[in-house]
Amino acid sequence: MPADRIQQVGLWLIESPIKSARSHGSGHLKQAVRRVIIAVRTADGLTGWGEAAPWAPFGHTAETALAALRHVLLPALIGGDATRIGLRMEDCAHAIAGHSDAKAAIEMALWDIAGKRVGAPVSALFGGLVRETIPLSFSIANPDFAADVARAQEMLAAGHRIFKVKTGFLPHEEDVRRLAALREALPGMDLRVDYNQGLAPHDALRQLRDVEQFAPTFIEQPVPRGQEAALARLAAALDTPILADESVTSPEEMLRAVREGFADSVSIKLMKSGGLLAARAIDAIAAAAGVPSYGGTLWEGGIALAAAAHLLGTLPNCSLGCEFYMPTYALVRDVVPDVLLASGGFVHVPTGPGLGVDVDAAEIATQAVETLTV
Ligand code: MG
Repeated sequence: MPADRIQQVGLWLIESPIKSARSHGSGHLKQAVRRVIIAVRTADGLTGWGEAAPWAPFGHTAETALAALRHVLLPALIGGDATRIGLRMEDCAHAIAGHSDAKAAIEMALWDIAGKRVGAPVSALFGGLVRETIPLSFSIANPDFAADVARAQEMLAAGHRIFKVKTGFLPHEEDVRRLAALREALPGMDLRVDYNQGLAPHDALRQLRDVEQFAPTFIEQPVPRGQEAALARLAAALDTPILADESVTSPEEMLRAVREGFADSVSIKLMKSGGLLAARAIDAIAAAAGVPSYGGTLWEGGIALAAAAHLLGTLPNCSLGCEFYMPTYALVRDVVPDVLLASGGFVHVPTGPGLGVDVDAAEIATQAVETLTV
Protein backbone atom coordinates (compact mmCIF):
# COMPACT_ATOMS: atom_id res chain seq x y z
CA MET A 1 0.00 0.00 0.00
CA PRO A 2 1.46 3.46 -0.90
CA ALA A 3 2.67 5.45 2.11
CA ASP A 4 -0.04 8.09 2.10
CA ARG A 5 -2.98 5.63 1.93
CA ILE A 6 -5.55 5.38 4.70
CA GLN A 7 -4.96 1.97 6.24
CA GLN A 8 -7.06 1.72 9.36
CA VAL A 9 -9.34 3.81 11.55
CA GLY A 10 -9.93 3.43 15.28
CA LEU A 11 -13.31 4.57 16.66
CA TRP A 12 -14.46 5.24 20.18
CA LEU A 13 -17.92 6.23 21.34
CA ILE A 14 -17.15 8.08 24.57
CA GLU A 15 -19.24 9.54 27.35
CA SER A 16 -17.80 12.56 29.17
CA PRO A 17 -19.17 13.88 32.47
CA ILE A 18 -19.80 17.63 32.61
CA LYS A 19 -19.15 19.96 35.54
CA SER A 20 -22.68 21.16 36.16
CA ALA A 21 -25.99 20.40 34.57
CA ARG A 22 -26.53 22.84 31.72
CA SER A 23 -29.58 23.54 29.62
CA HIS A 24 -28.28 24.68 26.26
CA GLY A 25 -30.86 25.11 23.58
CA SER A 26 -33.95 23.16 24.32
CA GLY A 27 -33.85 23.71 28.07
CA HIS A 28 -33.30 20.01 28.73
CA LEU A 29 -30.64 19.37 31.34
CA LYS A 30 -27.54 17.39 30.51
CA GLN A 31 -25.31 15.50 32.96
CA ALA A 32 -22.91 13.96 30.44
CA VAL A 33 -22.19 14.21 26.74
CA ARG A 34 -21.58 11.46 24.19
CA ARG A 35 -19.21 11.96 21.28
CA VAL A 36 -17.28 9.85 18.78
CA ILE A 37 -13.49 10.05 18.53
CA ILE A 38 -11.65 8.65 15.50
CA ALA A 39 -7.97 7.95 14.79
CA VAL A 40 -7.19 7.72 11.07
CA ARG A 41 -3.91 5.88 10.40
CA THR A 42 -1.92 5.96 7.17
CA ALA A 43 0.31 3.23 5.78
CA ASP A 44 3.44 5.22 6.73
CA GLY A 45 2.37 5.50 10.36
CA LEU A 46 0.83 8.96 10.68
CA THR A 47 -2.28 9.33 12.84
CA GLY A 48 -4.94 12.00 12.43
CA TRP A 49 -7.54 12.62 15.13
CA GLY A 50 -11.16 13.57 14.61
CA GLU A 51 -14.24 14.12 16.72
CA ALA A 52 -17.97 14.00 15.96
CA ALA A 53 -20.24 15.88 18.38
CA PRO A 54 -23.88 15.13 17.58
CA TRP A 55 -26.69 17.67 17.30
CA ALA A 56 -30.10 16.27 18.24
CA PRO A 57 -32.14 18.92 16.37
CA PHE A 58 -30.54 17.64 13.16
CA GLY A 59 -31.29 14.01 13.97
CA HIS A 60 -27.75 13.23 15.09
CA THR A 61 -26.71 11.12 18.05
CA ALA A 62 -23.30 9.73 18.88
CA GLU A 63 -24.72 6.32 17.97
CA THR A 64 -25.83 7.48 14.49
CA ALA A 65 -22.40 9.02 13.90
CA LEU A 66 -20.72 5.78 14.97
CA ALA A 67 -22.96 3.70 12.70
CA ALA A 68 -22.44 5.97 9.67
CA LEU A 69 -18.68 5.94 10.19
CA ARG A 70 -18.41 2.21 10.79
CA HIS A 71 -20.72 0.90 8.09
CA VAL A 72 -20.59 3.50 5.31
CA LEU A 73 -18.07 6.35 5.52
CA LEU A 74 -14.93 4.59 6.68
CA PRO A 75 -15.31 1.67 4.25
CA ALA A 76 -15.45 4.34 1.50
CA LEU A 77 -12.29 5.92 2.88
CA ILE A 78 -9.98 2.95 3.52
CA GLY A 79 -7.30 2.67 0.84
CA GLY A 80 -7.79 6.28 -0.31
CA ASP A 81 -5.00 8.83 -0.58
CA ALA A 82 -5.06 10.83 2.67
CA THR A 83 -3.44 13.85 1.00
CA ARG A 84 -6.40 14.41 -1.35
CA ILE A 85 -8.74 15.83 1.25
CA GLY A 86 -11.25 17.39 -1.13
CA LEU A 87 -11.53 14.15 -3.06
CA ARG A 88 -11.96 12.10 0.11
CA MET A 89 -14.79 14.41 1.20
CA GLU A 90 -16.40 13.92 -2.23
CA ASP A 91 -16.23 10.17 -1.56
CA CYS A 92 -17.98 10.77 1.75
CA ALA A 93 -20.66 12.92 0.11
CA HIS A 94 -21.34 10.22 -2.49
CA ALA A 95 -21.36 7.44 0.13
CA ILE A 96 -24.24 8.86 2.18
CA ALA A 97 -26.23 12.07 2.52
CA GLY A 98 -26.25 13.95 5.81
CA HIS A 99 -24.19 12.80 8.82
CA SER A 100 -22.30 16.10 8.78
CA ASP A 101 -20.88 15.42 12.25
CA ALA A 102 -19.29 12.14 11.14
CA LYS A 103 -17.94 13.79 7.96
CA ALA A 104 -16.48 16.67 9.99
CA ALA A 105 -14.60 14.13 12.15
CA ILE A 106 -13.08 12.55 9.04
CA GLU A 107 -12.06 15.83 7.44
CA MET A 108 -10.36 17.21 10.54
CA ALA A 109 -8.43 13.94 10.93
CA LEU A 110 -7.21 14.24 7.34
CA TRP A 111 -6.08 17.85 7.96
CA ASP A 112 -4.32 16.65 11.13
CA ILE A 113 -2.42 14.12 9.01
CA ALA A 114 -1.66 16.72 6.31
CA GLY A 115 -0.19 19.10 8.89
CA LYS A 116 1.84 16.39 10.59
CA ARG A 117 3.18 15.24 7.22
CA VAL A 118 4.77 18.66 6.56
CA GLY A 119 5.37 19.65 10.20
CA ALA A 120 2.99 22.63 10.04
CA PRO A 121 -0.15 23.62 11.94
CA VAL A 122 -3.42 23.23 10.04
CA SER A 123 -3.84 27.02 10.16
CA ALA A 124 -0.74 27.35 7.95
CA LEU A 125 -2.33 25.04 5.38
CA PHE A 126 -5.32 27.41 5.27
CA GLY A 127 -3.15 30.43 4.50
CA GLY A 128 -1.90 31.33 7.96
CA LEU A 129 -3.43 33.09 10.94
CA VAL A 130 -4.98 36.53 10.81
CA ARG A 131 -5.35 36.30 14.61
CA GLU A 132 -3.51 34.15 17.19
CA THR A 133 -6.35 34.41 19.69
CA ILE A 134 -10.12 34.44 19.24
CA PRO A 135 -12.41 36.35 21.64
CA LEU A 136 -14.39 33.87 23.70
CA SER A 137 -18.11 33.97 24.44
CA PHE A 138 -19.39 32.14 27.51
CA SER A 139 -23.00 30.95 27.54
CA ILE A 140 -25.28 31.78 30.46
CA ALA A 141 -27.13 28.44 30.48
CA ASN A 142 -27.09 27.19 34.06
CA PRO A 143 -30.55 26.49 35.48
CA ASP A 144 -29.25 28.24 38.63
CA PHE A 145 -29.24 31.75 37.15
CA ALA A 146 -27.79 33.39 40.27
CA ALA A 147 -24.82 30.99 40.18
CA ASP A 148 -24.25 31.82 36.52
CA VAL A 149 -24.31 35.57 37.23
CA ALA A 150 -21.82 35.16 40.07
CA ARG A 151 -19.52 33.15 37.81
CA ALA A 152 -19.90 35.70 35.00
CA GLN A 153 -18.92 38.50 37.39
CA GLU A 154 -15.75 36.60 38.29
CA MET A 155 -15.01 36.03 34.61
CA LEU A 156 -15.61 39.72 33.78
CA ALA A 157 -13.14 40.70 36.51
CA ALA A 158 -10.61 38.30 34.92
CA GLY A 159 -10.89 40.01 31.53
CA HIS A 160 -13.72 38.04 29.92
CA ARG A 161 -16.14 40.32 28.05
CA ILE A 162 -18.58 38.29 25.89
CA PHE A 163 -21.59 36.49 27.35
CA LYS A 164 -24.37 34.75 25.42
CA VAL A 165 -27.69 34.15 27.13
CA LYS A 166 -29.81 31.16 26.18
CA THR A 167 -33.29 32.67 25.85
CA GLY A 168 -36.64 31.44 24.62
CA PHE A 169 -37.26 28.37 26.77
CA LEU A 170 -38.54 30.33 29.78
CA PRO A 171 -41.52 32.73 29.66
CA HIS A 172 -40.66 35.96 27.84
CA GLU A 173 -41.09 38.06 30.99
CA GLU A 174 -38.50 35.89 32.76
CA ASP A 175 -36.04 36.33 29.88
CA VAL A 176 -36.50 40.11 30.08
CA ARG A 177 -35.99 40.05 33.86
CA ARG A 178 -32.79 38.01 33.48
CA LEU A 179 -31.41 40.26 30.74
CA ALA A 180 -32.06 43.34 32.89
CA ALA A 181 -30.30 41.67 35.83
CA LEU A 182 -27.31 40.77 33.66
CA ARG A 183 -26.98 44.28 32.26
CA GLU A 184 -26.96 45.59 35.81
CA ALA A 185 -24.55 42.96 37.19
CA LEU A 186 -22.10 42.98 34.29
CA PRO A 187 -21.48 46.57 33.15
CA GLY A 188 -19.42 46.82 29.99
CA MET A 189 -20.07 43.26 28.83
CA ASP A 190 -20.71 42.33 25.21
CA LEU A 191 -24.17 40.69 25.47
CA ARG A 192 -25.63 38.29 22.91
CA VAL A 193 -28.87 36.29 23.05
CA ASP A 194 -29.51 32.88 21.49
CA TYR A 195 -33.10 31.67 21.12
CA ASN A 196 -32.20 28.27 19.64
CA GLN A 197 -35.33 28.47 17.42
CA GLY A 198 -37.46 29.13 20.52
CA LEU A 199 -39.95 31.77 19.34
CA ALA A 200 -43.12 31.41 17.32
CA PRO A 201 -43.00 33.58 14.18
CA HIS A 202 -46.33 35.25 14.93
CA ASP A 203 -45.19 37.09 18.05
CA ALA A 204 -41.40 37.02 17.78
CA LEU A 205 -41.14 40.65 16.64
CA ARG A 206 -42.98 42.03 19.67
CA GLN A 207 -40.82 40.00 22.07
CA LEU A 208 -37.55 40.85 20.34
CA ARG A 209 -38.39 44.57 20.41
CA ASP A 210 -38.45 44.21 24.21
CA VAL A 211 -35.04 42.54 24.11
CA GLU A 212 -33.46 45.27 21.96
CA GLN A 213 -33.49 47.65 24.95
CA PHE A 214 -30.62 45.59 26.38
CA ALA A 215 -28.48 46.31 23.30
CA PRO A 216 -27.45 42.76 22.38
CA THR A 217 -24.68 42.48 19.78
CA PHE A 218 -26.83 39.96 17.92
CA ILE A 219 -30.01 37.90 18.28
CA GLU A 220 -29.28 34.27 17.36
CA GLN A 221 -31.84 32.10 15.55
CA PRO A 222 -35.05 33.43 17.16
CA VAL A 223 -37.42 31.30 15.04
CA PRO A 224 -37.14 27.70 13.83
CA ARG A 225 -35.22 26.49 10.80
CA GLY A 226 -37.79 26.38 7.99
CA GLN A 227 -39.17 29.81 8.99
CA GLU A 228 -36.61 31.77 6.98
CA ALA A 229 -39.29 34.15 5.60
CA ALA A 230 -40.10 35.13 9.20
CA LEU A 231 -36.38 35.40 9.95
CA ALA A 232 -35.98 37.78 6.98
CA ARG A 233 -38.88 39.93 8.26
CA LEU A 234 -37.24 40.11 11.70
CA ALA A 235 -33.89 41.04 10.16
CA ALA A 236 -35.59 43.86 8.25
CA ALA A 237 -37.64 45.13 11.19
CA LEU A 238 -35.08 45.06 14.01
CA ASP A 239 -32.07 47.31 14.56
CA THR A 240 -30.16 44.43 16.18
CA PRO A 241 -28.43 42.05 13.74
CA ILE A 242 -29.94 38.58 13.37
CA LEU A 243 -27.40 35.73 13.56
CA ALA A 244 -28.46 32.65 11.61
CA ASP A 245 -27.43 29.34 13.19
CA GLU A 246 -29.78 26.40 12.50
CA SER A 247 -30.96 28.11 9.26
CA VAL A 248 -27.50 28.04 7.64
CA THR A 249 -25.66 24.72 7.51
CA SER A 250 -24.09 24.74 4.01
CA PRO A 251 -22.68 27.09 1.37
CA GLU A 252 -25.95 26.73 -0.57
CA GLU A 253 -27.97 27.84 2.44
CA MET A 254 -25.58 30.75 3.02
CA LEU A 255 -26.13 31.86 -0.56
CA ARG A 256 -29.88 31.67 -0.01
CA ALA A 257 -29.53 33.66 3.23
CA VAL A 258 -27.80 36.42 1.30
CA ARG A 259 -30.40 36.42 -1.48
CA GLU A 260 -33.35 36.38 0.91
CA GLY A 261 -31.86 38.62 3.59
CA PHE A 262 -32.35 36.39 6.61
CA ALA A 263 -28.81 36.54 8.02
CA ASP A 264 -27.07 39.71 9.19
CA SER A 265 -24.40 37.44 10.67
CA VAL A 266 -23.85 33.68 10.70
CA SER A 267 -22.68 30.94 13.06
CA ILE A 268 -20.06 28.60 11.59
CA LYS A 269 -19.90 25.08 13.05
CA LEU A 270 -17.87 22.23 11.60
CA MET A 271 -20.57 19.80 12.77
CA LYS A 272 -23.16 21.65 10.63
CA SER A 273 -21.08 22.08 7.50
CA GLY A 274 -19.50 18.62 7.63
CA GLY A 275 -15.93 19.88 7.71
CA LEU A 276 -13.48 22.74 7.28
CA LEU A 277 -13.68 23.17 3.51
CA ALA A 278 -17.45 23.69 3.49
CA ALA A 279 -17.19 25.95 6.56
CA ARG A 280 -14.66 28.08 4.72
CA ALA A 281 -16.99 28.27 1.71
CA ILE A 282 -19.84 29.45 3.96
CA ASP A 283 -17.59 32.15 5.38
CA ALA A 284 -16.45 33.23 1.91
CA ILE A 285 -20.03 33.75 0.71
CA ALA A 286 -20.88 35.56 3.94
CA ALA A 287 -17.80 37.78 3.63
CA ALA A 288 -18.69 38.72 0.07
CA ALA A 289 -22.12 39.84 1.31
CA GLY A 290 -20.78 41.81 4.28
CA VAL A 291 -22.09 39.23 6.75
CA PRO A 292 -19.60 38.56 9.60
CA SER A 293 -19.22 35.06 11.03
CA TYR A 294 -19.02 33.61 14.54
CA GLY A 295 -17.48 30.37 15.81
CA GLY A 296 -20.34 28.31 17.20
CA THR A 297 -20.17 24.88 18.81
CA LEU A 298 -22.13 21.95 20.02
CA TRP A 299 -20.84 19.82 22.91
CA GLU A 300 -17.44 19.51 21.29
CA GLY A 301 -14.18 18.76 23.00
CA GLY A 302 -10.64 19.84 22.28
CA ILE A 303 -10.05 17.89 19.07
CA ALA A 304 -12.98 19.40 17.15
CA LEU A 305 -12.51 22.83 18.70
CA ALA A 306 -8.81 22.84 17.81
CA ALA A 307 -9.80 22.14 14.20
CA ALA A 308 -12.32 24.97 14.28
CA ALA A 309 -9.82 27.35 15.89
CA HIS A 310 -7.23 26.60 13.19
CA LEU A 311 -9.77 27.47 10.48
CA LEU A 312 -11.43 30.49 12.10
CA GLY A 313 -8.06 31.97 13.02
CA THR A 314 -7.40 32.28 9.28
CA LEU A 315 -10.71 33.96 8.34
CA PRO A 316 -10.70 37.78 8.42
CA ASN A 317 -14.52 37.75 8.25
CA CYS A 318 -14.86 35.77 11.49
CA SER A 319 -15.01 38.90 13.62
CA LEU A 320 -17.66 38.00 16.21
CA GLY A 321 -15.54 35.64 18.35
CA CYS A 322 -16.29 32.06 19.29
CA GLU A 323 -17.82 29.94 22.03
CA PHE A 324 -15.09 27.29 22.29
CA TYR A 325 -15.25 26.97 26.07
CA MET A 326 -16.37 23.38 26.58
CA PRO A 327 -12.96 21.89 27.50
CA THR A 328 -12.18 24.71 29.93
CA TYR A 329 -15.52 25.36 31.60
CA ALA A 330 -17.90 22.47 30.89
CA LEU A 331 -16.19 19.07 30.63
CA VAL A 332 -14.85 17.43 33.80
CA ARG A 333 -12.06 15.85 31.74
CA ASP A 334 -11.48 15.92 28.02
CA VAL A 335 -9.54 13.32 26.04
CA VAL A 336 -6.92 15.93 25.14
CA PRO A 337 -5.25 18.51 27.40
CA ASP A 338 -6.91 21.91 27.15
CA VAL A 339 -4.83 23.21 24.25
CA LEU A 340 -7.16 26.16 23.69
CA LEU A 341 -6.57 27.51 27.21
CA ALA A 342 -9.79 29.50 27.09
CA SER A 343 -8.99 31.85 29.95
CA GLY A 344 -9.07 35.61 30.24
CA GLY A 345 -11.67 35.86 27.52
CA PHE A 346 -9.71 34.39 24.61
CA VAL A 347 -8.93 31.02 23.09
CA HIS A 348 -5.49 30.46 21.64
CA VAL A 349 -5.13 28.75 18.27
CA PRO A 350 -2.86 25.69 18.80
CA THR A 351 0.59 25.98 17.25
CA GLY A 352 1.85 22.38 17.02
CA PRO A 353 1.88 20.31 13.81
CA GLY A 354 -1.51 19.29 12.44
CA LEU A 355 -4.30 20.09 14.87
CA GLY A 356 -1.70 20.50 17.61
CA VAL A 357 -3.46 18.19 20.05
CA ASP A 358 -1.92 15.28 21.98
CA VAL A 359 -4.61 12.74 22.65
CA ASP A 360 -4.69 10.96 26.00
CA ALA A 361 -5.26 7.32 25.03
CA ALA A 362 -5.82 6.26 28.65
CA GLU A 363 -8.55 8.88 29.08
CA ILE A 364 -10.26 7.71 25.89
CA ALA A 365 -10.21 4.16 27.25
CA THR A 366 -11.69 5.40 30.54
CA GLN A 367 -14.55 7.25 28.82
CA ALA A 368 -15.14 4.68 26.08
CA VAL A 369 -18.59 3.08 25.85
CA GLU A 370 -17.74 1.26 22.63
CA THR A 371 -14.40 0.67 20.86
CA LEU A 372 -14.07 -0.45 17.23
CA THR A 373 -11.54 -0.70 14.42
CA VAL A 374 -12.34 -0.44 10.71
MG1 MG B 1 -27.18 28.60 18.42
